[in-house]
Amino acid sequence: MQVENKYDYIIAGAGCAGYSLLYHLLQDPILSKKKILVLDANFNKGNDRTWCFWEDQAGPFESIVCKKWSNIEVLKGSMHRSLPTAPFEYKMIQGIDFYQYVTDFAKGFDNVEWVASKILSIDSINTNSARVNWEGGSANAGYVFSSINGERIQSKLWQHFKGIVVEFDIAVFDDTVARLMDFNVPQMDATAFMYLLPLTDKKALVEYTLFSTTILLESKYDTVLNAYIEEHHKGQAYQIQHSEMGAIPMTSKKLTSNDGAVVSIGTMGDAVKASTGYAFQFIQKQTQQIVHQLKLNQALNPAVHHTRHQFYDAVLLYILENQKMAGDEIFARIFKKNTAATVFKFLSNTSTLLDDIKIMTSLPTQIFLPAAIKVLFRR
Ligand SMILES: Cc1cc2nc3c(=O)[nH]c(=O)nc-3n(C[C@H](O)[C@H](O)[C@H](O)COP(=O)(O)OP(=O)(O)OC[C@H]3O[C@@H](n4cnc5c(N)ncnc54)[C@H](O)[C@@H]3O)c2cc1C
Repeated sequence: MQVENKYDYIIAGAGCAGYSLLYHLLQDPILSKKKILVLDANFNKGNDRTWCFWEDQAGPFESIVCKKWSNIEVLKGSMHRSLPTAPFEYKMIQGIDFYQYVTDFAKGFDNVEWVASKILSIDSINTNSARVNWEGGSANAGYVFSSINGERIQSKLWQHFKGIVVEFDIAVFDDTVARLMDFNVPQMDATAFMYLLPLTDKKALVEYTLFSTTILLESKYDTVLNAYIEEHHKGQAYQIQHSEMGAIPMTSKKLTSNDGAVVSIGTMGDAVKASTGYAFQFIQKQTQQIVHQLKLNQALNPAVHHTRHQFYDAVLLYILENQKMAGDEIFARIFKKNTAATVFKFLSNTSTLLDDIKIMTSLPTQIFLPAAIKVLFRR
């Protein structure tokens, strides 16, 4: 495809962050008229991931939310904590629905062009111009918003997982409760839990998730998934309809810095919450923030995690990385001593100082205090 070689904005990478930025840009009466080029190596990613997040109201993607829960549960040993999530709801969006929704919405805009190709380089020329080279072409833009992972991400700790969507012949699930963490699974010298999201009473996403330094071979996740399903639904027939795997960096170090007219977004723009791997809502916040700054002609600052919460993340990561306390114990205590709403606010960086104190005092002082001091002096 022949493309013009000067755009207002190039969106380099059309995944969660790229599509989110495009969607929010196109909501604005002025910015929606800008010349925009969207580049990705692969626009046919299928249903490569499902995103879950919590909200206390209808969000911009409410119409494609495929399932919501108002109750969560956390299990560890004999502890079985069930918690209502009000005022929040825990929501799920399928990747394929999200990509299609934004693509369909953007079809109404002739000023948006699409190129499917591998990006080879992105270079800032000055604060008002950057250049992108891809296989078969190149172009300049006033801003390039990049979510491509050009270099290997450096992270000691990873959240890694394999999930399968299973469908049973008979009703086996309570689809009103999302099982956020069931720690009664092999811990593999890490923090490991089963994440079970029932979509109907017969069907659920079951995901074996670990926080650790080493990503497993696929067969290891399969062994644990099979054993878990067998233990809980002995002998019941089921089919696997879908699977997804992923590894999300858990680091409080910056992955990239802004470089002139090149602005990193999404995972590469440090949108991931370091201590949990949640990113979907932070990506919405980041891309809406960028749109707001563009409207006001301000210098772009894509940072979404601010000092106080970055500090808590760093302390939790320090405790996990240095095995000062087992991760299952940390999360079980947090959920045992707090409401779901307090935990959700803490994890969304919207908690008050009082909420934070409640969460932090859920952990033993002799663990939390030395870790906090260590992190303070290392910064
Ligand atoms: C399986 C999975 C499930 C997840 N579930 C959740 C969840 O439930 N809740 C949550 O909050 N977070 C979740 N996350 C974390 C986070 O929300 C996602 O990783 C999110 O997709 C990150 O968005 P992104 O735009 O930074 O990266 P991506 O969505 O990965 O997008 C990057 C894009 O860049 C393109 N690209 C890369 N290199 C090139 C190149 N050289 N040339 C051209 N194109 C390129 C890719 O094709 C891709 O489309 C999950 C992650 C995974 C992997």
